[in-house]
Amino acid sequence: MRLILLGPPGAGKGTQAVVLSEILMIPHISTGDIFRANIKGGTPLGLLAKSYIDAGKLVPDDVTVDIVGSRLKEDDCDNGFIMDGFPRTIPQAELFDRMLEERGEKIDAVINIDADDSVIIRRLSGRRMCHCGRTYHVENSPPKVEGICDACGGKLFIRDDDREETIRERLRTYHEQTSPLIDYYRKKGIILNFDGTKPIEVTTREILESLKK
Ligand code: AMP
Repeated sequence: MRLILLGPPGAGKGTQAVVLSEILMIPHISTGDIFRANIKGGTPLGLLAKSYIDAGKLVPDDVTVDIVGSRLKEDDCDNGFIMDGFPRTIPQAELFDRMLEERGEKIDAVINIDADDSVIIRRLSGRRMCHCGRTYHVENSPPKVEGICDACGGKLFIRDDDREETIRERLRTYHEQTSPLIDYYRKKGIILNFDGTKPIEVTTREILESLKK
């Protein structure tokens, strides 16, 4: 199955992607995670991406599409994938369609998880991450031991771009550049809409039920 997760930052895309990837046994591909790994590794790509990410802006389309193209060439993508945070602009979506067409593939469904800006701001400012990919929230889903990941025991951290000013800029970027994708995929008849304010397990169940149909 080939899926795209769409929605504003903090709507729960990453959380759902981790769970869905395990259940559906397809890789979770997060362009944000790829950029962060490159920043951590001090690569030229990381250096370039950091300036955009820290400003709440998008990394240029050509760079982002190239990364996805290389990732898709890996064997684990042959039976499908969950794209988390890609595409984020109309040009990315068009280039992605072309890339898949060349592979003789197409997107089965676009899972659009939405939430209001006020919810997002509250969520992202309390978000805590682990390097293993799990995410927590200081109030809504705290770890059992403060600052430590339940799953792997890793030390939790706050993302640099989860500062209030950057969050507001990321939301502006989402409304301007990413939200037009909802219409793009609606016209293709492959969009499924979900309410990102519901409990995580409820949304997962709703997504799996919709995918069955
Ligand atoms: P995320 O972890 O998906 O919230 O991504 C973190 C940041 O990485 C975003 O705010 C962007 O700066 C950058 N980024 C991630 N995915 C993309 C994309 N598809 N296009 C451009 N920039 C991206």
